[in-house]
Amino acid sequence: MHTDADLSSLSVRQLRARRRRLAASLTDPQVNLEGSLVSQMRRCGKEGCRCTQGELHGPYVYLSISRDAARRLVYVPAKLADVVRQHLALTEQIEASLAAISAINLELVARRQLD
Ligand SMILES: [Zn+2]
Repeated sequence: MHTDADLSSLSVRQLRARRRRLAASLTDPQVNLEGSLVSQMRRCGKEGCRCTQGELHGPYVYLSISRDAARRLVYVPAKLADVVRQHLALTEQIEASLAAISAINLELVARRQLD
């Protein structure tokens, strides 16, 4: 990530070039998936099962999605865990690039050079 201090030392031409590179590096937005992976041990609730003695099942992987104050867990089947992990990583890259582009545009606004 680039700080505002970095940006203030660049020319308008350099800012626009950096913005163009960031935009060109953006991944296909179809990968977008928000949340983070958590793994949990679970009790199945069946009477007499070993989990009632504290030997829990799992670990199972869940996608944790926070919206406002609420958190939701969505079960992720084991064979999808890797692809979900990839999507989350790419989503982080997209968000970082968009934040960097926004910072450049903010700098251009401050210089009255936003096009
Ligand atoms: Zn059980």
